[in-house]
Amino acid sequence: MSDHYVKVNIQLEEMKSFGEDAEKEGVDAEEQVPVCSPSASVSPPDPSSTTIAGRDASNTSITCKHRGKSRSKLGKDDKNSCGKHTSDVSLHGSVVSAHVGRNLNRLGHDRTLHIKGTGKILQGKSETNGNYVTVHPSKNIQETRREDGFKHARKGRPVTVDISKAKTSLEALKLSIKQLKWKEFPLGRRAACDIYWHGVSFHDNDNIVSGQVNKFPGMIEMLRKINLSRAVRTMQELFPEEYDFYPRSWILPEECQQFSTQIRMVKENDATVNPTFIVKPDGGSQGDGIYLIRDPSDLKLMVGTQAKQAVVQEYIQRPLLIDKLKFDIRLYVLLKSLEPLEIYIAKEGLTRFCTEPYQEPSQKNLSHVFMHLTNYSLNVHSGNFVHSDSQSTGSKRTLSSVLYRLAAKGVDIKKVWSDIIALVIKTAIAVVPELRVYYQCDIPPGKPGPTCFQILGFDILLTKNLKPVLLEVNSNPSMRIEHEQEVAPGVFEYVPSPVDEEVKVGVIRDTLRLMDPGHKKPSISQHGEEIPMEAETQERSPDEGALPSLCLKQVYPKYTKQFNYLRLVERIASLFIRFLGVKGNMRMGPTAFRTFIRTCKLSNSNFSMASVDILYIDITRRWSGTMPDSREAGMGLQAFVEAFFYLAGRRYKSLVLREQVVSLLQLCEVQLESQSGVEERRSVSCSRAMPRAVRTLGLTNPQLNSPAPLRRASSQDYRLHQRLKPRTLRANVEN
Ligand code: ADP
Repeated sequence: MSDHYVKVNIQLEEMKSFGEDAEKEGVDAEEQVPVCSPSASVSPPDPSSTTIAGRDASNTSITCKHRGKSRSKLGKDDKNSCGKHTSDVSLHGSVVSAHVGRNLNRLGHDRTLHIKGTGKILQGKSETNGNYVTVHPSKNIQETRREDGFKHARKGRPVTVDISKAKTSLEALKLSIKQLKWKEFPLGRRAACDIYWHGVSFHDNDNIVSGQVNKFPGMIEMLRKINLSRAVRTMQELFPEEYDFYPRSWILPEECQQFSTQIRMVKENDATVNPTFIVKPDGGSQGDGIYLIRDPSDLKLMVGTQAKQAVVQEYIQRPLLIDKLKFDIRLYVLLKSLEPLEIYIAKEGLTRFCTEPYQEPSQKNLSHVFMHLTNYSLNVHSGNFVHSDSQSTGSKRTLSSVLYRLAAKGVDIKKVWSDIIALVIKTAIAVVPELRVYYQCDIPPGKPGPTCFQILGFDILLTKNLKPVLLEVNSNPSMRIEHEQEVAPGVFEYVPSPVDEEVKVGVIRDTLRLMDPGHKKPSISQHGEEIPMEAETQERSPDEGALPSLCLKQVYPKYTKQFNYLRLVERIASLFIRFLGVKGNMRMGPTAFRTFIRTCKLSNSNFSMASVDILYIDITRRWSGTMPDSREAGMGLQAFVEAFFYLAGRRYKSLVLREQVVSLLQLCEVQLESQSGVEERRSVSCSRAMPRAVRTLGLTNPQLNSPAPLRRASSQDYRLHQRLKPRTLRANVEN
């Protein structure tokens, strides 16, 4: 479908108007405004059907606009929206005790599907282009904090977990702690715990100064539908082919006009094209407020007098079907650390099935939610929903049972699995830059704070031709291990769900094992790279003897070589953070932006400081208009990235965008590196009193595109450098 899209881009118009304004202010008339390349769309599905015939699905067609909010809300996934969470811990007392008695056999046995050889497929994708400089995983402030934690780690005492804010993950968490023989603190604790398990966000407990929290600051915000779409789109501009796993999306209300124009043009170009779109409210979850449309005029743009924030997305019309039903995959991913980036994927996941046989969208069936939406929370209300104790039947099944079934039909599941791993790593690479900005804002270097990790829920659809497509990432995937059942007419009870328990307890337990403060750290190789550790081969503590092998598999840094070239925006984020200035700030002010331009020597006779100011004002104003809830003034990371792309486009007109960006990054990093050298010489000659250790800390920026030994310097060192020399840095540019 992407071929049909005409490259119309409203941003082009906006940048043109900026160009005109800038020209008036003395910007070189020759200078070209960069045209943002259109993002890639999911490739058209193969016409050959991969439908797998199986049990007869009922043909009963149930139409339902949107279910009412009832008491079943308690059974819903807990997702992005904080406001939606209800603290229902007390409701589950009886369920908890029922679970605690269970032995590990059912939960712990190693029934997950091992797909050997995936690594080879990924190795084959290795990027060898020497242009791309890899960001070396470096020991940094987060890691140092974690190591400090190890020093204070238990000596013979069990690891302590504060479970007081666990909310709906409580039962699975308690089972996990029991299996690990760790100690839970149900009411919280005055003294520090090793791990704090939060049900919603990083801020569930205030004032944590040590230990580890199972949420990153900013994750909820970052994974809202609009923000995720923006982050992926930025990557699509740089790497269209690598990021074609995310459906083409438009952000509403701001891109409404652009959406209408593009679709009109597509249809005018080819009358046989009849796409369908899915509209998803920005903060929505569990299918709430989602609807399908076939024409832009069907968009519902307003709620009362307010414009709705939403994403409208290309609808994948030909999903892979099993038993004639659409299904999606819920994959659990552990983001163990941001710096260095460490990602683990659960070998076992869930598949959620629709409850009405699938038909390609038509005007007649657009409102059939049980046909088009795979959300458990919706389908559980269909008369066709099948609760099953078996992992391979029913409306919720394990991922491995589905993969086995596909393998039996001759599907190359190694390829599917390696594509899924690639999708996960690439998505993480898209969101990590902004997460780093949130992180430094909430836990600035120098301020005592915990380290973070987080389990994410990736929702993935397989197309008919077996291509994985990312639907969304949940910052708060449901960790419930029981489901609501109508035991008598109108009487609902929570009953254990073996499939959920099998998968979710494994994920939580093994996340805890990986985060165990006494756990052996991965070693750092001579070249500054972490030696990839297969999760299974990690050293076990004596307590772990009876436990099954880890169900979480490390994929990053394991596949660093294949994916590191994609981490360009992270390098832009490093520049952004470096020049942000005030601790705890997420927005860059005009002075800091000027400082960045001057320090990196990006202004010249063709691009005066007046033009720099206009660029700043123009981009910042436009971005603040798109973020109605933003309270802070100034330039956020996404706006800075746009400015960076613009600057790169001006300077390296003949190159394609990604090469422009690489070239400008190299230029900036070299400038900063040489300035660090000047700083070092100055500080050596001016400050004899400064201890040697302090002098040498500030020499290098670890994110720089410098030879390997320099790149290995830690970002903690770099941050120390920032803290030690703010005046000097300012003086460098403002004098
Ligand atoms: P929510 O957070 O409300 O669950 P999702 O993005 O997960 O929103 O969408 C809900 C459901 O809609 C998905 O589980 C999937 O079945 C369906 N869906 C979402 N996006 C698409 C798409 N682009 N193409 C086809 N189906 C989709």
